Amino acid sequence: MSQDPALLRLVHHLKALKLPTLLRDYASVAAVCSQERCGYPQYLLRLVERELIDRERRATERRIKEAQFPVIKTLESFDFKAMPSVNEPLVREILRGEYIAKKENLLLVGNPGTGKTHLATALGFAACSQGKRVRFFRTTGLVTQLLEQRENRALQRLQKQLERQDLIVLDELGYGPFSKAGAELLFDVVSRAYERTSLVVTTNLPFEQWTEVLGSERLTGAMLDRLTHRVHILEANGPSYRLQDAKRRLVPKDRG
Ligand code: ADP
Ligand code: MG
Repeated sequence: MSQDPALLRLVHHLKALKLPTLLRDYASVAAVCSQERCGYPQYLLRLVERELIDRERRATERRIKEAQFPVIKTLESFDFKAMPSVNEPLVREILRGEYIAKKENLLLVGNPGTGKTHLATALGFAACSQGKRVRFFRTTGLVTQLLEQRENRALQRLQKQLERQDLIVLDELGYGPFSKAGAELLFDVVSRAYERTSLVVTTNLPFEQWTEVLGSERLTGAMLDRLTHRVHILEANGPSYRLQDAKRRLVPKDRG
């Protein structure tokens, strides 16, 4: 790097101002601009535009990391033809993210292997790209965390963290049953999110059976009441994609 003191100070200031893209590109963009004979404002504009785009990309990447998706899934890799029970127009409408602004919830109901987790992850991923803070949990994992944090007297911290989110995914509600304390803590999450944070809940259980997981009928009623007040319901039913996929790979292709 040049020993020109002015350039050294420029490098220092760009670092201090946290403008890494400007630092990386100021010389190469200057070369292009001088070739194209564009003026100083144009040069500056090109640089700050690059900085802005990079900054948004980094922020999205950070949000995706913080969301803690188990695997990244997007809608591009979802085959609607393989799962005709899924309402594609509704999924595409929801993907635009207005439900988050309106604090509405989404329930994905259906038997195992029908792409509920895939869709919930794809929606969470899209929300991250739209600048939303997202947190993905397997419901049993969240309940375990809540119980642990309560033991450690750190429950409030976790609750505050949840309150900062725009969208919380509760995946696979239906594997339980939860202890009384666990069910109450989960209810508390749903109740705090009510009209403040959107929830995407996936489940293989019809509503009538939620009591079996949550224990109490009163608590189940209160939870469903909050969850379903402003809700979109997506049904995913049919044969398991996993099973079909495995069969496709087992059965040899037409040899004729
Ligand atoms: P569920 O949560 O309903 O049990 P998953 O979302 O975990 O189902 O789906 C099981 C596997 O099958 C995942 O790897 C998922 O990506 C895949 N899958 C399910 N449905 C589809 C689909 N319609 N198109 C592409 N992949 C699918
Ligand atoms: Mg699942």
